[in-house]
Amino acid sequence: MQELTHFIGGKHVAGTSGRFTEGWQPMTGEQISRVPLASKAEVRAAVENARAAQPAWAATNPQRRARVLMKFLQLLERDNDKLAEVLAREHGKTILDAKGDIQRGVEVVEFACGIPHLMKGEFTDGAGPNIDVYSLRQPLGVVAGITPFNFPAMIPMWKFAPAIACGNAFVLKPSERDPSVPLMLAELFLEAGLPPGILNVVNGDKEAVDALLDDPDIQAIGFVGSTAIAEYVYARGCATGKRVQCFGGAKNHLVVMPDADMDQTVDALIGAGYGSAGERCMAVSVAVPVGQKTADELMRRLIPRVESLKIGPSTDSSADYGPLVTAQALERVRGYVDLGVKEGATLAVDGRGFKMQGYEKGYYLGGCLFDNVTPDMRIYKEEIFGPVLSVVRANTYEDALKLCNDHEYGNGVAIFTRDGDAARDFAARVQVGMIGVNVPIPVPIAYYTFGGWKRSAFGDLNQHGPDSIRFYTRTKTVTARWPSGVKDGASFVIPTME
Ligand code: NAD
Repeated sequence: MQELTHFIGGKHVAGTSGRFTEGWQPMTGEQISRVPLASKAEVRAAVENARAAQPAWAATNPQRRARVLMKFLQLLERDNDKLAEVLAREHGKTILDAKGDIQRGVEVVEFACGIPHLMKGEFTDGAGPNIDVYSLRQPLGVVAGITPFNFPAMIPMWKFAPAIACGNAFVLKPSERDPSVPLMLAELFLEAGLPPGILNVVNGDKEAVDALLDDPDIQAIGFVGSTAIAEYVYARGCATGKRVQCFGGAKNHLVVMPDADMDQTVDALIGAGYGSAGERCMAVSVAVPVGQKTADELMRRLIPRVESLKIGPSTDSSADYGPLVTAQALERVRGYVDLGVKEGATLAVDGRGFKMQGYEKGYYLGGCLFDNVTPDMRIYKEEIFGPVLSVVRANTYEDALKLCNDHEYGNGVAIFTRDGDAARDFAARVQVGMIGVNVPIPVPIAYYTFGGWKRSAFGDLNQHGPDSIRFYTRTKTVTARWPSGVKDGASFVIPTME
């Protein structure tokens, strides 16, 4: 069994708090590691290393910083198979899906390679008599990221790549459930030429998170995880005067209009509902067919597809999805299926009896499909985060739109239709941050920004894209006049541009 470490000041450092959590392999249910849980003092050591390294990194010109990122990209490609294998083993997703997880992170590193251009300020020549005005973007200093289990490569890279490209030093607190890939990423970045101390990884739980939130040397915190913790991190981080952005849970709807291409819609629902065992913040967990005829047709086609989903260990390249992340996650999701039955929804496909031959101790759950789910049910209101799709029947387009808008979460949503007017109206009026038109998982590409609305996100700026550069920098505006200019004596009136 492997004992994992922290990564501080460019070195692997053993945990000294005496506290550990167990790391389990979801496909077999075996313990594979012990993960150290950092104390306040260990977090402080990471912050001090970051603080010492940051000024020299910020003073390195942006083109040189970009070259380190480019080298990092090469190493990510070199080690792609190894990273995907470790990721799949710790998380449970299939190796193919693990490669997608890495690739989505790589795309943000590629975006951050444009930092010389992205950091450029603005300049106004002759804003007044002999006066020039210009703005600069400067890094914040030491910043931190707290990330969830479900994308252990992508989300850490979404956070640290733009932050480091801007000239900040970073302390990452990844999920304690799958921290190996984040540690490998830090090693690779060091190998690419990143100075020691610019990217540190501390493993831990609430104690480490609280230490980061309260540390006066941390200027900004980016969090991704469940809504209750997102809200907590946002409140506590803001109370200590930090810049904070927190991304939380989701309940993503897919509206099926009567004119939708049904083959395409069913494929979309199967992939987006059950891929990665439904453990994606952009997974589709609610299908909303409009009209009884659409609903009946959708159910007729969905049932055999859900029944024939291929579930397998992460190493099976032909599997549609693998196990859930932990035994607790499996119990929680099964509990929601039991609850849905009690609440009166129709369980059209019941995956609770699924057993994976040869992997009986793994955390597998067969695909579950509910029909006749209503908005008052807890299985509709709460995020299940498992391979469970709920069908909520709507009578009209307006009813379907209202459902999406009334839900407390607003991360992603999709509409499937051939009607351009309906799609346009939906995109304009739906109260959700990321919208797909005949696209079930509308995760924006790296040079746009990612973020939900309502209780799916707290804070003002989104992740990656131009917002990430705004989040990880501060703007300074300089108004300059050279002495050869007009001598107009002391003025007691506020300067204007009359
Ligand atoms: P989680 O909230 O349990 O954990 C997220 C992070 O918070 C981890 O690093 C964890 O160690 C830390 N943490 C856990 N409990 C804490 C506490 N009491 N105090 C302080 N920190 C604590 O989330 P998870 O189960 O790892 O991830 C799944 C959740 O993340 C889902 O709700 C999913 O929707 C959400 N998610 C959201 C997005 C998004 O961009 N909106 C993306 C991915 C995942």
